[in-house]
Amino acid sequence: MRFHVLTLFPEHIDEGLNSSIIKRARENGLIDLNLVNIRDFSKNKHKTVDDYPYGGGAGMVMQAGPIIDAYAQVKKEYPNVKRVIYLSPQGQTLNQEKVLELAQEDELLFICGHYEGIDERVIESIVTEELSIGDYVLTGGEMAAMVVIDAVSRHVEGVLSNSVSADVESFDNGLLEYPQYTRPADYEGQTVPDVLLSGNHQKIEQFRHEQSLIRTAKKRPDLLRYAVLSQEDKIFLKKTCHIDTNML
Ligand code: SAM
Repeated sequence: MRFHVLTLFPEHIDEGLNSSIIKRARENGLIDLNLVNIRDFSKNKHKTVDDYPYGGGAGMVMQAGPIIDAYAQVKKEYPNVKRVIYLSPQGQTLNQEKVLELAQEDELLFICGHYEGIDERVIESIVTEELSIGDYVLTGGEMAAMVVIDAVSRHVEGVLSNSVSADVESFDNGLLEYPQYTRPADYEGQTVPDVLLSGNHQKIEQFRHEQSLIRTAKKRPDLLRYAVLSQEDKIFLKKTCHIDTNML
């Protein structure tokens, strides 16, 4: 999968996505980052890419020209690019469903804003969607782009060594993941639940599923509204967590 990123800080993204699983995926050619410096498309001798906002007000706005020219250059080299995503606090909020949807694509192009954001005419002319990583304001879109690229890359075939692990993470059936433990079985008096040491896979599965239900009910009860719940799950939630799923 190829990610194109139009940014003023390509080195920030290159460094941020250069360790562990994502580094390996890049080295193995499973994901490719095409980092494009918007400043290279400035037409003035000082290489500026921003200017004062029309109508006054604080801060600077990134000009349309360099961003649209950078996009045109990418499009010339990679005509299959279709989805042009502007990272923005005004966009749809990223969630796992959106991550899985984006992971179906072969190419995605991200635009990272900075300062007060980008000239609205970029959004009107080339952006196909706006995407936010949460209801807060960052100084630039680079961190947001890295969050999206990391989350999407985990669903690219071969990126995770154990393909099962992407399927049993939090959110995949609408529930949070069960608690995880590793050696030692007794850490300063805190012990691992006996069932996990029992070797009984059926009981372990049941324990994990119940733990998922319990922690979702405790930490993120709002998720239960959309979770895939069996009749037994509903009875369990009512009995153990006093949650009446008919009321959700
Ligand atoms: N003035 C803009 C507004 O109020 O909508 C915010 C500009 S912000 C300081 C600078 C850049 O950071 C934005 O252009 C965007 O690319 C990025 N950004 C900030 N918050 C973000 C968020 N929650 N999700 C994604 N990108 C964000």
